[in-house]
Amino acid sequence: MKFESQVVHAGDRRRRSTASIPSTTPIHLGTTYLYESTAQLDRIFAGEEQGFSYARYANPTNEALEELTTAIEHGYGSLATASGMAALQIAFQAALLDRPHSILAAQSIYGTTVTLLNQVLAPFGIETAYADVYNLEALERAIASQKPGCVFLESVSNPLLRVARIDEIAKLTRAAGAALIVDSTFATPMLIRPLDLGANIVVHSATKYLAGHGDVIGGVVVSDEQHHQSVRMLSRIIGPVLGPFESYLTMRGIKTLALRFQRQCENAKILAQWLAAHPCVERVYSCSDPKHPDAGTIRELFAPGLFGAILSFEIKDAERASVMAFMDRLQMIVCGTSLGDVHTLLLYPVISSHREISPKMRERMGIRENLVRLAVGIENVDDIIADLDNALRPA
Ligand SMILES: *Cc1c(COP(=O)(O)O)cnc(C)c1O
Repeated sequence: MKFESQVVHAGDRRRRSTASIPSTTPIHLGTTYLYESTAQLDRIFAGEEQGFSYARYANPTNEALEELTTAIEHGYGSLATASGMAALQIAFQAALLDRPHSILAAQSIYGTTVTLLNQVLAPFGIETAYADVYNLEALERAIASQKPGCVFLESVSNPLLRVARIDEIAKLTRAAGAALIVDSTFATPMLIRPLDLGANIVVHSATKYLAGHGDVIGGVVVSDEQHHQSVRMLSRIIGPVLGPFESYLTMRGIKTLALRFQRQCENAKILAQWLAAHPCVERVYSCSDPKHPDAGTIRELFAPGLFGAILSFEIKDAERASVMAFMDRLQMIVCGTSLGDVHTLLLYPVISSHREISPKMRERMGIRENLVRLAVGIENVDDIIADLDNALRPA
């Protein structure tokens, strides 16, 4: 081989060892895969034999992550995607492939998901109506009149933390022939497993709790047997797949999910009680509150003793300027738009997640100018308390 060919080919594609197995999955960056014979490659392309051929279809790092997310969500199969939003788009398309092109969605969903429904799916004839998923009779009526192809909700809503009866809603969707898609980003499979409750597709922004360290944008679609092939088929064509490096980081993150989330939930429970008793706090929203409007659902559907790691609270008599001054006084807590990271994050909905919604509509949704959301991290809770206390009451 001449130099120009050597620099391209030497060293690559040698089976270095068949006897050793790396203890953790490496980052596989290769895009194409070779076999002993072209006949074998032909069988793999035909789907007659399992194997990697081209990394848009599957790659070993992603496959390892997908096996992991399928296991922890009790699914049939998974797809790792480049973002939570890409996961949502694929999930909607898979659910509606052979169903009426209409979606019935919960009212209080992630802002960009509303934009996806209105600006991306609507122009292709997929219509969305919104329903109160916390009122089963109203939801049943809405399903009966709209006859949607799928119902969509989030297992824990943002930022007021409502919790829907996924098990009862799954009975309604099943009877109506509609798919049930659940965005379970806030809950994680530690709190609730929607597929066990009858949902068909679970979506995560892996950017949040799954990866957990503020260094990955990613998503996952975990499906039941009925929908998994459609999800993979769409992904093979559209190619919104997660990069192998992000896949590796997400898998590494998930290894400590149980430890992290347990600690985050414990911290959140302590913080909710502390905030409720704080003279500068008007109201606390927390799934650990016995007076939560969905307390019965939480008791029945959540894992015992865990209430999630997100809470929201209203600062007494605070206008926008004083909420912003409170945020500027925080020293350890990170004021960022994400959640689920090892570090505690604080978000101000009216300037971020709910910025595009009119003040009147926000008021109706219960999202007031003095409301902030805390995504509790794994720090020592005393330090989170000290930081909040210092910022809540300036010297
Ligand atoms: C962040 C988030 C998304 C979007 O995920 P990306 O990874 O940012 O694309 C969707 N749903 C919920 C509930 C989220 O918190």
